[in-house]
Amino acid sequence: MEAIRMIEPGKPLVLQQIPIPSVGEEDVLVRVRAAGICHSDAHYRAGRSRMGMMPITLGHEVAGEVEWVGSNVTTIKAGERVCLHYNISCGDCYHCTAGHEQFCATVKMIGHHIDGGYAEYIAVPARNAIPLPEEISFEEGATLMCASATALHALHRGRVKEGETVAIFGVGGLGMSAIQLAKALGAVEVYAVDIKLDKLELASEYGAIPIDASRVDVVEEIRKLTKGKGINVALEMIGLPKTMKQTIESLGVMGRAVIVGLSQTPLEVHPYQTLIGYEAEIIGSNDHLLQELPLLIDISGSMTWKTIQMMCAP
Ligand SMILES: [Zn+2]
Ligand SMILES: [Zn+2]
Repeated sequence: MEAIRMIEPGKPLVLQQIPIPSVGEEDVLVRVRAAGICHSDAHYRAGRSRMGMMPITLGHEVAGEVEWVGSNVTTIKAGERVCLHYNISCGDCYHCTAGHEQFCATVKMIGHHIDGGYAEYIAVPARNAIPLPEEISFEEGATLMCASATALHALHRGRVKEGETVAIFGVGGLGMSAIQLAKALGAVEVYAVDIKLDKLELASEYGAIPIDASRVDVVEEIRKLTKGKGINVALEMIGLPKTMKQTIESLGVMGRAVIVGLSQTPLEVHPYQTLIGYEAEIIGSNDHLLQELPLLIDISGSMTWKTIQMMCAP
């Protein structure tokens, strides 16, 4: 089969002929119909992340049709439309059985540790293949498997409840998904914080209340807009100490700040003013879970193609 592979960091990807992957008893072989290009792929190609093998077929946002199933697979049949959960975990270790399989000691990500979806076929364990209904295109299904899934996990980590307020700091691909998913989970007001006007405009098209961080003091503005109450759940999706601090400082009583953006810089907060005085929480959110994907597919079934396309905009 043909596959687009990374041979060496910093070099262009190369179209190669490689064997169709072999299918284990518990696996499915999927004919790839769509594979997303993620910002992570740019990092991988630039050599900024350690790869599990080289050469490697990139691509971790994958959807397609089941071509063949292993002899022990009973849950899925050839011909079914599927999208793929990119983390392949053991299913048996402490972290897998405790329900946080992203920390599995042997977790392997397709397109990062093992061959991914920039190819005609990919083989994965059957449990990694999530049924994809007709109303969701392969392209949508593929991109749901990364940014949108990670946004949903962050909202789950923040324990968003119906009637609560949510603030999203940074409305790129992740943030744009988070706005729509927060609404779907019952958030009454969703604030979108960014410095880019086009992103704020798009965010307001999805019903978010835009806050232009280049023009106003974000924390003050949020206090004003929430009549002093502050936010129930605030998501940081940028990875800057400044916006992390704002995320935490915009919380109200019992508020939860969920940190998704990556940063190496220590984060300083005032323990009384920002945490103890509000019984607020700072929560880390890492990746997403297989068990969250059926809900994501359910929610997304009612969205339009245009919407999803915009969600994936960088
Ligand atoms: Zn991705
Ligand atoms: Zn495990």
